[in-house]
Amino acid sequence: QHADTATSTSKKEGSNKYTFFHESMKLDLRRKMDLEKGMRRALENQEMSLCYQPQVFAKTAENRGVEALLRWHHPVFGSVSPYEFIQVAEESGQILAIGEWVLSKACEKLAEFNDHQPHKLTMSVNVSTLQLRSRGFVEMVKKYVKKHKINPSFLELEMTESVFIHSFDEAVTILNELREIGVKISLDDFGTGFSSLSYLRHLPINTLKIDKAFVQGMETDKDTEIMIDSVITMAHNMNLDVIAEGVENEWQLQAMKRYECDMVQGYHISHPLTEEMLGKYFEKKNDENS
Ligand code: C2E
Ligand code: MG
Ligand code: MG
Ligand code: MG
Repeated sequence: QHADTATSTSKKEGSNKYTFFHESMKLDLRRKMDLEKGMRRALENQEMSLCYQPQVFAKTAENRGVEALLRWHHPVFGSVSPYEFIQVAEESGQILAIGEWVLSKACEKLAEFNDHQPHKLTMSVNVSTLQLRSRGFVEMVKKYVKKHKINPSFLELEMTESVFIHSFDEAVTILNELREIGVKISLDDFGTGFSSLSYLRHLPINTLKIDKAFVQGMETDKDTEIMIDSVITMAHNMNLDVIAEGVENEWQLQAMKRYECDMVQGYHISHPLTEEMLGKYFEKKNDENS
């Protein structure tokens, strides 16, 4: 028996490998299809919700605002990460409907928050590249700003550098139209994309968000620290505000203060919170400051 298998090893191994590869691809595809299908009903079944992660000024620890982060509780799979389902939503085009829901909900909440807050807060909303480039996006933003009577300068749209990959000029035109409405633009995950520092000056943006990989790499890697220092200095020279994301400990917070990073966000400040938890977070903060 042994001898038998030995003679046909290479062929068998080859085909086994192929089969194995094939099976795992099938599982992957299966899950994607299930997610895509489930997504069609997710909004009407109220499986999706927003949570909000506080952003604070580095120097004073005062509230700057929150980032709206989408959550999906699938009836079978349970909680699915946006890192996974946003991609599926983009591939299937469902990101347009989901993105509109996110924007509408975030604007509604922003109006509510700022009615009750002594200091006005900024609401950051993630916008996917597909959504930004979709027809009527600027009009849609206008519509929800008007509907909820919000001051547009407290609404910030977060996008990644991928927005600029295909047609740079077209993207810049859309961003300029958005800025005419008065909303702010933030460049998310900075440092992970095709970032060249010099191209930044050509972008109509207000805020630079340093990716958490850099914030977290800084502790063990001197080069990363030097890079963050120079990115912040350069951003300030271009009149951009800087947010560090993924701040998980006191050391990272102190380093960001040292480099005069304007704002910080991360588990060390607060995890993303449900609406209810956020209310309590604000109450506690207001008590501390009075
Ligand atoms: P992002 O916009 O870069 O958001 C930051 C992510 O880092 C969030 O993950 C947040 O929960 C997580 N995070 C915050 N603080 C820390 C920390 O201290 N340490 C670590 N390790 N992680 C931290 P989340 O909520 O899973 O979202 C993942 C990504 O999915 C987001 O990355 C964003 O690109 C996308 N996303 C989330 N909500 C939306 C949405 O409404 N629309 C679109 N288009 N994309 C969204
Ligand atoms: Mg973001
Ligand atoms: Mg980010
Ligand atoms: Mg991101």
